[in-house]
Amino acid sequence: MSTFVPISSPIKQRILSELCERFEDAVFILDAKLRYMSVNAAYEVMIGYKEPYLIGRPLGIYAAEFLSEQEQTIINDISNRLDENGFYENSFALTNRYSQIINCHISYRRISIDEGVYYVGMLRDISSIVKGRQQVAHLLNYNQLTGLPNRKVFLSQTNDVLMDTFQEVVIIRANIDRYRILVNNLGQDNVDTLIKKFVTRINSLELKQLLCFSHFGGDDFGLLFEFSDANMVRHELDSFMHICEQPFVLNNTSIYLQISVGVSFYPKDGHQLSSLLNKAEKALHYAKKHGGDDICWYNDALEQESVDSLQLEAELRNAISAKQFVPYYQPKVALDTGMITGFEALVRWHHPMRGLLQPKDFIDAIINHKLSFDLFCQMACQIAEQLVIWQEMGFTQHVCINADAAEFSNPEFFGFISRLFYKHSIHPSQLHIEVTESSLMMRHASVEQQLNAIKKLGICLSLDDFGTGYASLSYLQEYPFDFIKIDKSFIDKIVDNRTQSAIVKAILDLAVALDMSAIAEGIETKEQRDLLLEMGCDYGQGYWFERPVPADIATQMLINSPFSKEFL
Ligand code: C2E
Ligand code: MG
Ligand code: MG
Repeated sequence: MSTFVPISSPIKQRILSELCERFEDAVFILDAKLRYMSVNAAYEVMIGYKEPYLIGRPLGIYAAEFLSEQEQTIINDISNRLDENGFYENSFALTNRYSQIINCHISYRRISIDEGVYYVGMLRDISSIVKGRQQVAHLLNYNQLTGLPNRKVFLSQTNDVLMDTFQEVVIIRANIDRYRILVNNLGQDNVDTLIKKFVTRINSLELKQLLCFSHFGGDDFGLLFEFSDANMVRHELDSFMHICEQPFVLNNTSIYLQISVGVSFYPKDGHQLSSLLNKAEKALHYAKKHGGDDICWYNDALEQESVDSLQLEAELRNAISAKQFVPYYQPKVALDTGMITGFEALVRWHHPMRGLLQPKDFIDAIINHKLSFDLFCQMACQIAEQLVIWQEMGFTQHVCINADAAEFSNPEFFGFISRLFYKHSIHPSQLHIEVTESSLMMRHASVEQQLNAIKKLGICLSLDDFGTGYASLSYLQEYPFDFIKIDKSFIDKIVDNRTQSAIVKAILDLAVALDMSAIAEGIETKEQRDLLLEMGCDYGQGYWFERPVPADIATQMLINSPFSKEFL
C-alpha cells in the first residue's frame, strides 16, 4: 500500500486554477473596483472577448452599449447587492458581443485575502433549461397545430373574466362540420393545413370584442366575446360565419368549410363557467344535429329538447301535416277613428289532447326544430285564403304574419311567397311581415339582403317588440322597416310612469323622423289609448279593443268596424 502524500499548496493552487480554466461555467474575477482581473475560457466563449482585452476594464464593458437597464443596474451596484456573507445571485438574460441573448444564472462572491477584496463571478448558461421550460409551458397551454391557447387556457381565461369583471360575455363553442368525412377524403395532413388556414382567416378579422380564441383540438374551437356592445358582437359573429363561407383553396381545389356554433350568454344563461360552457355545448349539438352550418343561441327549449326532443319533434311535424296550427286574428286599430286597419295573425295550436295552445307553449320548439318555415307556410296559406274571402266581401285590410328571421334564409321562401300571391291573386301590400328584434340578433349578415328583397316584393315590414332587444336603434338604421311596434312593456306603465311615457314619446318622434309608422302593442285601458293618441300615436292593438280571435269572429268585427266602444 502506497503512502498517502498530502497535497502541497502550489499543487492545490494549480489544480484549482486548471479546474477553473476548464470549468463549463464561465468564471471571472474582479478587483474591489469591479475591474476584470481574470476570466476563464468559458467566459471568453460566452461573452465573445478574450482575457487580455478585458483585464483592467470595468465589468460589463464588453457590451456596455447593449446592456439592458436590468443588467446595468445590477452591474452598477453589485457590491451593494451582496448579502452579509458577501453573496449575491440572480437569473437574467445577457446580451454578448455578438448580440446573442443568453439566459444565465449568475452568482457573485466577495473574497477577502489579506488586505485585498475580490469579487468572483460565475455564470451558468441556462438557456436550454429556460427554453425547455418554455417548450413545456407551450405544450401544456397551446395547441401545437395552430398555436392557439388550448381548452385549459380558455377555461381559465373565461373564469378570470367572469370572476374579475362581472362583465357580460358571450361564450361560443364552434365545430367544423363533417370533420371525419374531410379527414377520410383529404387525409389528416391536408385537413390540418385547412384548419391552419381557417385560424389565419379568423385571426385576420381582428375581432374587437374577442377576448380569447382557443383551439380545443381537431375540429373543436372556443371563443370568448366581451358583450359591452351587443351590436358589435352580432356583427363580429356574422363576420366569423361569413368568412367561413368563402372557399379555402387546397392543392388548386376549392374546399368549403361549414361551421356550427353554439352560444351561451353570461349572465342570462348562468353564473358558473361550467354551466355556461355546458349550455354553449348543448346549443352547438343542437346546431349540428339540425344540419349544421348555423348559429344556435342557448335557450331553455334546448333542455326540453334533450329530454324528449324526438317525441316533440314528431308531434310538431304531425301537427303541421295535420294542419293543427291556425291563425287567430287580433285587430290593429286607427286610434282616432277606431277603424280596423288590419289584423295580426297569431298562431294557435289545436292540440288533439291538450286543447288550444298558445305560442309560448311551442314557438321556441318550432324554431329550434327548424320548423318555422313549415309553420310560416301553413299560416300564410290560411291567411291568404282568408284575405281572399275578406276581399270578396269588400274588405281590403292587411294581415300581418309573424316570422322568425331564420325563415328568410330558407331557399324556398321567395318562391313560396311569389306563388302564394299569384295563386290567390292577392296584392303583396295586403301581407305584412313582423320580425322580432331577438330573432334578428341571432341571424347572419344576409338578413339585410333578405329583408330588402322582401320589401322589393311590395311587402311591408314591421319591427316587433321594439325596445326589448339590445340594438333596437341600429336595426332601424340597418333594415328597411315600415312599422315599429312599441312593445307592451312600455305601454303597460305609460299612464303612471313618466319615464315610460317619455320613452314612448321618443319612439314616436323617431318613427316620424324615419318616415315610419308606430303601432302601440298591448293597449288594455282607455287611459292608455287616450294618452297614446294625445302623444301622436296613430295605431294600436290590445285587449281593450279585442283579443286574438278565430277568423269568423274577426269577420264579424270587420262588419261592425269601427268599434262601437265608448272612445269614439
Ligand atoms: P307578438 O307578435 O308581439 O304578439 C303580441 C302578443 O301579445 C300576442 O301573444 C297577443 O295575444 C298578446 N297581446 C296582444 N294584446 C295584448 C294585451 O292587450 N294584453 C296582453 N297581456 N297581451 C296582448 P301571443 O298570441 O301569445 O303571441 C306571443 C308571441 O308569439 C308573439 O308576440 C309572436 O312573437 C309569437 N308568434 C305568434 N304567432 C306566431 C307565428 O305564427 N309565427 C312566429 N314565428 N311567431 C309567432
Ligand atoms: Mg307580432
Ligand atoms: Mg310584439
